[in-house]
Formats: sequence, C-alpha cells, structure tokens
Amino acid sequence: MAVKEYIRERFFPHMWCPGCGHGIVLNGLVRAVEELAINKNELVIVSGIGCSSRISGYVDFHSLHTVHGRALAFATGVKLSKPKLNVIVPMGDGDALSIGGNHFIHAARRNINITALVMNNRTYGMTGGQYSPMSGVGVKATTAPYSTIDNAFDCVELARAAGASFVARTTVYHVNQLSELIKKAIVHDGFSVVEIFSQCPTYFGRKNKQGGAVDMLKIFKEKTVLIGSDKKKDNPALMERGIFVEKELPEYCKAYDEVIARARKA
Ligand code: SF4
Repeated sequence: MAVKEYIRERFFPHMWCPGCGHGIVLNGLVRAVEELAINKNELVIVSGIGCSSRISGYVDFHSLHTVHGRALAFATGVKLSKPKLNVIVPMGDGDALSIGGNHFIHAARRNINITALVMNNRTYGMTGGQYSPMSGVGVKATTAPYSTIDNAFDCVELARAAGASFVARTTVYHVNQLSELIKKAIVHDGFSVVEIFSQCPTYFGRKNKQGGAVDMLKIFKEKTVLIGSDKKKDNPALMERGIFVEKELPEYCKAYDEVIARARKA
C-alpha cells in the first residue's frame, strides 16, 4: 500500500504552524506503517488533546480523538477488547506525563502491547505555551515569564522505572532513526515508548530565543548523540538517542487470556 493510502487527504492542509516538528513525526509514523505493510484496518490510533494529538485525524486508520491525558486509558480498553489490533498513541509531553502521567506509568507497569509516541516539545503548544513537566529549569513560558524552577522528568527513565519493555528516544532531525524506532516499537510485544524531541517554534522557540524551526533542528542535531558515543564522555550534557530498553516480558492481554482459560477450566 502506498504511503498516501494511510493519509486522510481531505483534512489537509494540516493545522500545525509552519516549522512545527509534529508533521515530521506524522511522516515517520506513516512510513513505518507502510514499511511494515500493516493493513490499515488493523491499526487504531488513539490520541488525547494537544497539537500532537491531531495526528489521529490525519491518518486513515481507525481513529479515536479522546480527552486530555486519557488516551492510554481508552487505548487500553481497545487493546483488551481486540488484542489483535495494533494500537498507537501519539501524545504531547504534557498530555503523556502531566495530565496523563498516571495512565502512562500504569500502562508501562502492565506491559500492555500499545505503542506510545511521546512528542516532547517542552511546552503546551495548543493552549498558548505554558510550561510542561518536560520544560526543565530555566525555561521561559507563558506561565513562567521569569523562567521555570521545576525539574523536568526524564521520559526514558520514567518509562524504564515504570516497567516499559521497549524504550527509545530520537528527534525529528533524525528522520531515518525516527521511522526505524517507530517500526521497532510497533512490532515489539509489550508497552513501547518512543520519546521524540519535536520543535515548537511558535512558543518554546520564540520565548527561549532558539530561533526558527531550522535553528531548533540544528539544536537536536548538535545536542544529541547515539547511545554509546564517545562524545558523551567529553560532554555529559549531550542527550542520548537510540534504544534504552528492549526486553521480553509477559504481555498483559496474553496474561489476561490465560486467566480466562484458567477460569474456564475451574
Ligand atoms: S503551537 Fe507549537 S506545537 Fe502547536 S502547531 Fe504550533 S509549532 Fe506546533
């Protein structure tokens, strides 16, 4: 199936600002699905609220555009009722780790076979640039004009500690790695998380004087390295990209089926 077949062209042009990174994530997702040759009738995309969540409307999968922070709860219901479906959840950093933080850690703890794409632009873009749990200290935001004092979560470490069996990180600058990691996350049998640094030039970039979209992409290029790179030894502040966790653990729907089978025998 051609890439175009996975897109709802009638909803284009999209609503994202010029230079927003989320379109690159959409591209990476669609290319991953096309390369895996997944039948779109077997794909469900479930999103919450936010600029990133608009992806669910642009792909021609089964789409559920739900409420803020609750996408993983809806996705869990879908997956448990139809375990054969591939369930993908695109989320913003606030949607995933603030409003939806509890759902995030519990989906990871259960190891349910859902793919969470956490699009981290360190701000609440749709509502006007408030600071998020991923903004970090010293960042300017609509709600922090004199800069933030809150530490940021580390999405990778949070997902790892909560029990996710596949955890990866990349950026929208690294488009090939982005698509490859999404592919691996989709085929992984368990809760998979891909954190994706994505630029919001309209709010985060402007308020923090990072320049336009191209300048922000250059920051992703210069401030990240592949896991294991020697450059990290010389500059510990560099963020690592790649797969941090990839392990086999009992998957939740399969474990639940075993409970049903035991109950039937009893
Ligand atoms: S506000 Fe930011 S995140 Fe939202 S569409 Fe514009 S650039 Fe993208």
